[in-house]
Amino acid sequence: MTQASSNNILLDISDVTKSYGNFQALKGISLTMRQGEIISVLGPSGCGKSTLLQLVAGLSQPDDGTIWLGGGIVATAKSLVPPEKRGVNMVFQDYALWPHMSVMDNIEYGLKRMKLGKEEMNARVGELLSLLHLEGLEKRLPPQLSGGQQQRVAIARALATRPKLMLLDEPLSNLDMRLRVEMRTEMACLFRKLGISVFHVTHDPDEAFAMADRLLIMRAGRIDQLDTPEQCFKRPASRWSASLMGAFNTLKGKIIDHTINRSVIQIGNQTLQGIVPTAKSGTNSGHGSKDGLLMFRPEELKPVPMQENSNDDSVNNQLIVHILHCSFEGTKWRAVAETECGQKLYIVHETPLAAGERMAVCLPLQSAYIYRDEDER
Ligand code: ATP
Repeated sequence: MTQASSNNILLDISDVTKSYGNFQALKGISLTMRQGEIISVLGPSGCGKSTLLQLVAGLSQPDDGTIWLGGGIVATAKSLVPPEKRGVNMVFQDYALWPHMSVMDNIEYGLKRMKLGKEEMNARVGELLSLLHLEGLEKRLPPQLSGGQQQRVAIARALATRPKLMLLDEPLSNLDMRLRVEMRTEMACLFRKLGISVFHVTHDPDEAFAMADRLLIMRAGRIDQLDTPEQCFKRPASRWSASLMGAFNTLKGKIIDHTINRSVIQIGNQTLQGIVPTAKSGTNSGHGSKDGLLMFRPEELKPVPMQENSNDDSVNNQLIVHILHCSFEGTKWRAVAETECGQKLYIVHETPLAAGERMAVCLPLQSAYIYRDEDER
């Protein structure tokens, strides 16, 4: 609890594990969260995002470790502070509004339980109705509202009691695409304006980017990376983070040189240089070649003049590819291509690339991420 005792920390999760029967859903999670911070938890289905959220909410108890929230320990394997005594509120995917209560009654619900005076209650509700653009809808029942309006009511209800921490579990996943984009920006602005701390679970990297101060990237019950969105994007700490951050292209090769910050990887008979985003990978200069992966975003490849006869094709970061197919995607073209050694990749480009063509593409070193196979758990 060293960190929790410093002033600015709201939440300190220390070495928390959680199993369901023989299945360990969380395998030793530790993190701290600052007051007013928005953390978005990202990761594939089943990686333990909701389990972590439920532990913070108090809906479930850890098998081991400690959760400290706002002023004291709220959960260990032996003690559990119930949800209503933690000062947290949760907004679920399905909103969980009371269907028989009006918008006004839904928002006032928690305040009445707190026995707040009528004047203060009216002031708070009025402010929330205005902040969440719900004026004029006070008397409607939830089934008489659109998905986006119901979502706003759920957020207003959760904010009304001024929780220490808001927990959001896939809050936008029931909305259509346009509304999701609109709502995620609105929510981010609202939470920042109110200085609310938010722990937010989502499948959607774009939603996480729009909302978060830091991303918590999870995989198989562990934390892969906890960092600012920019840092996760520029230096994804594992192949799983890289893939979530849009580096969908993955080529297998042999790492033939390896220094603190850079690696050289051989893909077929071509060599490319890249950065080593994991400290672990970079600490070893390596003996002999090792299996590795080169990952990069389809948007990063740029067609360049072919340097076929150059003797020094060692580290020019060019890849010779055959274009198999190219289709229009609205603003850009997406080509499916193949390396000379038969590995598939995508290229996103401003102009169409002709199917059947053999061409050179260049990959900027800073956008080429190299991981050793053995670094992946
Ligand atoms: P999703 O994105 O699909 O909601 P998630 O990352 O939130 O997934 P969790 O719901 O935390 O994942 O589940 C983590 C793992 O624990 C999954 O393999 C899930 O099947 C399992 N699990 C979750 N709840 C229970 C439970 N009550 N009993 C048994 N296994 C469970």
